[in-house]
Amino acid sequence: MRKKIIAGNWKMNKTPTETVTLIEELKPLVQNEKEDVVFCVPAISLAAALEAAKGSNIEIGAQNMHFEENGAYTGEIAPGMLTDIGVNYVIIGHSERREYFAETDRTVNKKVLKAFEHGMTPIICCGESLVQREQGVTIDWVRQQIKIAFLNVKKEQAKEAVIAYEPIWAIGTGKVATSAQAQEVCKAIRECIKEIYDSGTAKEIRIQYGGSVTADSAAELFSQDDIDGGLVGGASLKPDFGRIVNYR
Ligand code: PEP
Repeated sequence: MRKKIIAGNWKMNKTPTETVTLIEELKPLVQNEKEDVVFCVPAISLAAALEAAKGSNIEIGAQNMHFEENGAYTGEIAPGMLTDIGVNYVIIGHSERREYFAETDRTVNKKVLKAFEHGMTPIICCGESLVQREQGVTIDWVRQQIKIAFLNVKKEQAKEAVIAYEPIWAIGTGKVATSAQAQEVCKAIRECIKEIYDSGTAKEIRIQYGGSVTADSAAELFSQDDIDGGLVGGASLKPDFGRIVNYR
């Protein structure tokens, strides 16, 4: 039985001081033994978040990292810098990184490999645009993203990965995918993992849905056979996140 994982993507919101306040506020609301709960906060707030979350069920994740160990990459953060302070999760290939910061499937793959090398769990994002959905190429597109993201990733590592299926047209738009649409793509992603590895790996890997999830839509989405939780943007900054985590 896969344990659900519900992650908040805070994007570029909250100062370190505000981060501590919000974690203190959300801590009692997200208490839950049944699901994994991760807050992916801005890099500048990671240390403060780790401190604030101590002793709770909240895990702290980063929203990005570089694929090199160190070097002349002004403004970037290396994987070892994250693990040094105790960060175990990292979002990789979010559509906003792909759109505004020129991330590609190739860089996503490099980052995924690096995350595993450092013992971190990557939350690997994939998803189609509205045009792709309308043209009926969603599954082909997402399969390609997944196949490239997992190039050279070993089976034992793949089992530990988290995939976030996030249709771009649903992110931050208030337009949530129907549970049938989300389930169809998450199922196809699991099939793709089975083709790359085997059915055991496909059964173990966790696949989230992301895109305008709210406290009202979470229960139906997360109860689909192939949806193992969610990656939540806007609603993760509000007390509503407690209701999303405790959706059952
Ligand atoms: C996201 O940032 O990954 C996301 C899904 O955002 P939102 O929930 O606001 O659509």
